Amino acid sequence: MQAEIITIGDELLIGQTIDTNSAWMGEQLNAIGMHVHQITSITDHPNHIKTALDEALKRSNLILMTGGLGPTKDDVTKATLTDYFNTKLVLNEEVLEGIEAYFSGRGIPIMEVNKLQAMLPEKCTVLRNLLGTASGMWFDLDGKVVVSMPGVPYEMKGLMSNEVLPRASKHFKTPFIYHRTLLTFGRGESRIAEQIADLEDEMVVQGIKLAYLPAAGRVKLRLSASGTDKIDVMANVDAFFDRVAERLSDIVFGEGKTEMEETLNAVLQANSKTIACAESCTGGTIAALLAKHPGSSTSFLGGVVAYANEVKTAVLGVKESTLAAHGAVSEQTVKEMVMGVIRLTGADYAVSTSGVAGPDGGSEEKPIGTVWIAYGSAEKVFTKQLNLGTNRQRIIAVAGLSALNMLRRAILEGKV
Ligand code: ATP
Repeated sequence: MQAEIITIGDELLIGQTIDTNSAWMGEQLNAIGMHVHQITSITDHPNHIKTALDEALKRSNLILMTGGLGPTKDDVTKATLTDYFNTKLVLNEEVLEGIEAYFSGRGIPIMEVNKLQAMLPEKCTVLRNLLGTASGMWFDLDGKVVVSMPGVPYEMKGLMSNEVLPRASKHFKTPFIYHRTLLTFGRGESRIAEQIADLEDEMVVQGIKLAYLPAAGRVKLRLSASGTDKIDVMANVDAFFDRVAERLSDIVFGEGKTEMEETLNAVLQANSKTIACAESCTGGTIAALLAKHPGSSTSFLGGVVAYANEVKTAVLGVKESTLAAHGAVSEQTVKEMVMGVIRLTGADYAVSTSGVAGPDGGSEEKPIGTVWIAYGSAEKVFTKQLNLGTNRQRIIAVAGLSALNMLRRAILEGKV
């Protein structure tokens, strides 16, 4: 059963607003067994809306639209749909009462344009919006369905959850769709693909789709299948998921939407251990990750951002002779940074970073992208040098995640 999403608004096309509505709706539709076939973003122009609908209705059974339902002149979706479905606007008393209550509840005088939002197409089923004044509209068309919702993300989400998804589940007979996503770190997608080529071939035969989703330092592998027998679909995907996870066990750090720092936190908490960080080139990125999730305080003690050499020596106790002999971006310096922050905080483990994030400052010996990382405990400190390319944001992001991953693996392997 095929679905499409059309998001309407000039702001989406000039990069002013990121189309988060589609991402969320796509996930929700998938969860009820609807295959999202296409997502289209278009201008607030009646002709554009009509042609997009014509095209979508040729391909799909369910079309969800968001945007352009507000009371202002640039909001043209309602009038366009009224015209498209050859109907007329009629007053919906219940919606009018709701809009009046919405304004009086907030002590704001209601304006005529707001009342006009209770004028809705005669041929649609009105979906009450409990979070705003623009109603949703559900149009039935020879078994196909077109739904229009407001663009405001939380209003759209309310309508989707309360009205659209339950109705769509009843209206369409959908298969069961199942995804599992394996999270890997530190190896490129081409090498991963080579490593699991035989498993991928087997999966194709079994009707399982494998998608590679690369991001900074990571590659997500999503296994998907659909069918009418839920148990069968799940068992089939789970079996391959386990085989892929085993094959890639040296780079797998989690599953689903788990973040690297969450997996490290879990390892620390399971062992009742604490962590601190000393950061130069990552500039607080590691500390921000370690503090990001609820419950971080049980393992994260604190960190020092020692960007300047003076802070490395004065706060972390890195020796001036070390900096003079080896430079700030060196194995010796990151080792002393780890020792320094463990001394300062009393943490069981620490990680540190020092590197050349660019765009200036590279040399022949230490080009941009050179990052030294240290990780370990007061008893044992390990180091590693990375070469992370030339993009500053990426160097910082990957260096931070790498440090966390190295410590996580060292703990799991019993090295520290
Ligand atoms: P209203 O005019 O009552 O606010 P509307 O249905 O007319 O609602 P828009 O005017 O299109 O919606 O957008 C309202 C807000 O929602 C804007 O701030 C816009 O940036 C945001 N928005 C619209 N579409 C999307 C989308 N696809 N993803 C994320 N945000 C969106």
